[in-house]
Amino acid sequence: MPATRSIYLDHHATTPVDPRVVEQMLPYFTEHFGNAASRQHAFGWKADEAVEHARHQVARLIGARAKEIVFTSGATEANTLAIRGAVAARRDQGAHVVTVATEHKAVLDVCQAVAADGGRVTVVPVERDGRVDPARVAAALAPDTVLVSVMTANNEIGVIHPVADISAICQARGVWLHTDAVQAAGHVPFDVEALGVDLASFSAHKMYGPKGVGALYVRRAPKVTLVPQTVGGGQEQGLRAGTLNVPGIVGFGAAAGIAREVVTSEGPRVAHLRDRLLAGLTQALAAVTVNGSMTARLPHNLHVSFAGVDGEALMTSLADDVAVSSGSACASGSREPSHVMTALGAGAAERWGALRFGLGRGTTAAEIDAAVAHVTASVTRLRAMSPVGVGGGL
Ligand SMILES: *Cc1c(COP(=O)(O)O)cnc(C)c1O
Repeated sequence: MPATRSIYLDHHATTPVDPRVVEQMLPYFTEHFGNAASRQHAFGWKADEAVEHARHQVARLIGARAKEIVFTSGATEANTLAIRGAVAARRDQGAHVVTVATEHKAVLDVCQAVAADGGRVTVVPVERDGRVDPARVAAALAPDTVLVSVMTANNEIGVIHPVADISAICQARGVWLHTDAVQAAGHVPFDVEALGVDLASFSAHKMYGPKGVGALYVRRAPKVTLVPQTVGGGQEQGLRAGTLNVPGIVGFGAAAGIAREVVTSEGPRVAHLRDRLLAGLTQALAAVTVNGSMTARLPHNLHVSFAGVDGEALMTSLADDVAVSSGSACASGSREPSHVMTALGAGAAERWGALRFGLGRGTTAAEIDAAVAHVTASVTRLRAMSPVGVGGGL
């Protein structure tokens, strides 16, 4: 498996850890190994100091105050704490949650769990461009609605939702707004005040930090209260029990600090490469369609369908040369069509012959040109073998 020579264009699944981040983390495994909750000695103080520094770094990236950051084991846990924690805290006002059809499974499955616990969930559809219409969210609100959960940017098609418009609707109705901001934070400017969100989830490994660490932003003013989903230690202001992953948190803070510095220059750079990728593919191949809005979109995402090509066969053909995905890393591997593509109303051909490209900080123009050549060769070969042809479905 020539993994090291293959071109990595799957940055929505995970990103490499920045070597500067690793360097910051290392002393916290061996030298400064203290438990951040040990108040009686210098080992604990040193760890606690590092955690609080990281808390400031993460808060600064998203326009929050340090006290509003709760460290978790990742975004899956942050989403669970946000959704289940908010519904439990507002039980006397109702248990209706509104979410969107294209959310990550880490949101949709938690909403299903809320429904199984006796709550109510409304899943709002998206428009043909993959964005949710705020008017549809407004129409879904009911007297017992306590929470709306809308992701900032989609992890498959890279589409950015009108979160600020939705927050205005939620505020007017006294409904809390949660956003899964995993794919947006560190990649496009993201500010909890500008967006007016009450809860927001983040993951370090999607922004050049380590796996297994994330955060939940919990608004202080006006105050959002949550019922903790793990108990037994009282860490993180009682919201998330368990010994803190100090090296991981240090890495997350360092990654957030770097992201804050580079976000405004890196966005246009990858957008330029992404546009080069699309131009290369559409010049070389017929019947290439972009899925999702091309304007309200993450700068490093491209999601395209190749008519008449089986997506799995295409990925298999590319596997040694280009690391791409058909969609979410969690859902791929199954032959089930992506729930995101289904929500777009895409026909079978578009669903099956789709590829997600996720560019990153290390991506070069030479890699993009090589990827175009590999994809072109594979699609051309598969289409020649296909009994259906470019015009047909599957
Ligand atoms: C990756 C991802 C998650 C899960 O994050 P983990 O930290 O791996 O648990 C949640 N939501 C979105 C949109 C993601 O892309």
